[in-house]
Amino acid sequence: MDINQQSNEKTFDVIIVGAGASGMGVAIVLDKIGIDYLILERDAVGASFRKWPKETRFISPSFTGNFFGMPDLNAISPETSPAYNLLTEHPSGKEYAEYLEGIAEFYQLKIETKVAVQRVQKETSFFRIKTDKGDYKSRCLIWAAGEFQYPSHNGFTGADLCTHYSQVTSFSDLQGAERLVIGGYESGFDASVHLVKSGKKVTVLDSSDYLGLVSSDSSYALSPYTRDRIKGVIDQIDYHKETRVEEVRRENGHYHVTSTDGKTFTSVTPPINCTGFDSSLSLVKDLFEFEGQYPLLTDFDESIKTENLFLVGPQVKHGGALFCFIYKYRQRFAIVGEKIAMELGVPPEIIEEFVEDHKQYNFYLKDLSCCGDSCDC
Ligand SMILES: Cc1cc2nc3c(=O)[nH]c(=O)nc-3n(C[C@H](O)[C@H](O)[C@H](O)COP(=O)(O)OP(=O)(O)OC[C@H]3O[C@@H](n4cnc5c(N)ncnc54)[C@H](O)[C@@H]3O)c2cc1C
Repeated sequence: MDINQQSNEKTFDVIIVGAGASGMGVAIVLDKIGIDYLILERDAVGASFRKWPKETRFISPSFTGNFFGMPDLNAISPETSPAYNLLTEHPSGKEYAEYLEGIAEFYQLKIETKVAVQRVQKETSFFRIKTDKGDYKSRCLIWAAGEFQYPSHNGFTGADLCTHYSQVTSFSDLQGAERLVIGGYESGFDASVHLVKSGKKVTVLDSSDYLGLVSSDSSYALSPYTRDRIKGVIDQIDYHKETRVEEVRRENGHYHVTSTDGKTFTSVTPPINCTGFDSSLSLVKDLFEFEGQYPLLTDFDESIKTENLFLVGPQVKHGGALFCFIYKYRQRFAIVGEKIAMELGVPPEIIEEFVEDHKQYNFYLKDLSCCGDSCDC
């Protein structure tokens, strides 16, 4: 079937699913090349950031180094800076959503909000995107629906009895004098720091030893910002390293937590599950092939299973290089843009120009050999 055959369907060269940091970042690239695109967003611009707990702030610092060739680490385009826009180094989720709103307005991005993508079908030469507002069609599809709104309830038996980190509106509003936190990585310690500050006695069960682990890659170890915060409260946290939770049970109004090495813990309030997120990719899993939880992608972040289906954002992984921070995955927006531009027949000189432009600001990372290096000191 030809892409334009049914005129009542909305058709675009590219549809992007999700108006978060990654969907909007890649949209800016397409916009600059002059490609016809539309973002479909089920809620509002920056919806995941708006749902962060009130106290949570960015761990990666914002600083306006843009005009000396080092764009703000949390910027999604080389010419913008959350630090400049929000006047803060570690924005809250609500503040970062304001930055994204500003971006949508500044670049006049084409976004339809309150459209939830439910299913995607690949037909011969196009994608049929099934939403709660009818069908859309596009030649290329960019998946940017993130992770935050897809919490993991599969880490251990009884995880659904817990409060997931993503369900917390504010740590200070949580009931009870004591709280059990399952997970000792960024979200686990974020929760713990805020709970201690709101006067609660906190026990942390860490399946690994994140306090002891040091790595030069910020995707695998606690950030300096979090370590600084922990220093002030660690003597008020009952921390158990290498304690992997196997089961949570509810009996006689108490929550009983058992670890794989047989330790038991009891809490009157639901434990807080900080073991991570699933992925929105569950909605389109038939269109990707996976190795573990990560999809297999070409050098252009295209699904190896489905031509013209791209992934942007924190689920992008190539070998050991995990692109789970904005400063990492923003360097792949122009690579996806480059491939789509070639597919749609954009003249090579235009492609070359925007690639060079993005390289200049370290917004284009193709050679991943550098990503495995460790720091010398
Ligand atoms: C506590 C915490 C702290 C963090 N701190 C940092 C940090 O300091 N620095 C950093 O770089 N990163 C940080 N991150 C990671 C960062 O938040 C993510 O990288 C970022 O949210 C990913 O952006 P995204 O656009 O891919 O996904 P999201 O921000 O989740 O956006 C996805 C969008 O898609 C929409 N959507 C979802 N499903 C559908 C659907 N079916 N149909 C239509 N729309 C849909 C959602 O409503 C949402 O707006 C942190 C994350 C957490 C949880």
